[in-house]
Amino acid sequence: MALDIKVTRTTTPKAKPDMDNLGFGKYFTDHMFIMNYTEGKGWHDARIVPYEPIVLDPAAMVFHYGQEMFEGLKAYKTEDGRTLLFRPDKNIERANRTNERICIPTIPKEDFLDAIKAIVKTDEDWIPTNPGTSLYIRPFIIATDPVLGVRPSYTYMFIIILSPVGAYYSEGLNPVKIWIEDDYVRAVRGGVGEAKTGANYVASMKAQVKAHDEGYSQVLWLDGVYRKYIEEVGAMNIFFKINGTIVTPALNGSILPGVTRDSVIQLCKYWGVPVEEKRISIDDIFEAYQNGTLEEVFGTGTAAVISPVGELRWEDRIMPVNGGKIGAFSQKFYDTVTGIQTGKIADEHNWTVEVK
Ligand SMILES: *Cc1c(COP(=O)(O)O)cnc(C)c1O
Repeated sequence: MALDIKVTRTTTPKAKPDMDNLGFGKYFTDHMFIMNYTEGKGWHDARIVPYEPIVLDPAAMVFHYGQEMFEGLKAYKTEDGRTLLFRPDKNIERANRTNERICIPTIPKEDFLDAIKAIVKTDEDWIPTNPGTSLYIRPFIIATDPVLGVRPSYTYMFIIILSPVGAYYSEGLNPVKIWIEDDYVRAVRGGVGEAKTGANYVASMKAQVKAHDEGYSQVLWLDGVYRKYIEEVGAMNIFFKINGTIVTPALNGSILPGVTRDSVIQLCKYWGVPVEEKRISIDDIFEAYQNGTLEEVFGTGTAAVISPVGELRWEDRIMPVNGGKIGAFSQKFYDTVTGIQTGKIADEHNWTVEVK
């Protein structure tokens, strides 16, 4: 490996959690990766250390102005014991696009991948093997200058933590009910909607709570200007199958470009299923529902891979989808992607990267 990583192993390994009841992001492995950035010196001191709390100055910029980014990808165990990452190059490219948008120094691609591989290798025995489980990888960068003036920080920490996870939604692959939000907005073009940064999440919480109170598990966001065009689900991109065609909102600057989204589009092209990226209004969806051509709706993201939607609620209009059941396309996509991720299906797209 090109990146020189100093490894300090824990002397007190933790007990492993019950692999049948992992939930999402509740347990963390024995180690973490850390690398520092200092203006003038660049990224330095790459190291793997025991997982433990980090010490930061209370004035650290990340606490006040939110200069931070994160990524999310997964490692899987194959039946023959290999460890696979799914499309890590896409996450790394996106990480650096996020970094550029929020004035964080970029990380050389090879170093980023070396860091991921090294920490996953170190905690390889934490990768769960039950169906639907995986090791979630959370790289993130925080601004650490202890200064209250507003400017990009001169110092940063890049950290990677790992969490063995089960199904993202407790409902599993069961369809979720989604609330279409036309009051609050998540992001606007020109803002940070297409960057993977905490700001987009804090902007979404109020509507998320409102949707939960109404009995819906997720919010579907409309655009910030007209509150009319479909954007995404906040931690997932959204797809519709209308009259045999798979459609998803075109990337417009305020939608997060998901790796899973890209995989759906690539698979559609490979399978010869018609697929369109375009501007879609909520009226188009309601019309498709009314004339009986809204066949499937599903969200896509690394955490859940796919999340079928069984009901959409738009103001006082309720649109049940596919009788509240998972659709055939959604199921096929889920089976194919998870099959490739776990090495059960041949990887004809060169999506997996083995950690050796
Ligand atoms: C991470 C994320 C997604 C999904 O992206 P994947 O790369 O498929 O995991 C969608 N929307 C938002 C806002 C996200 O942060």
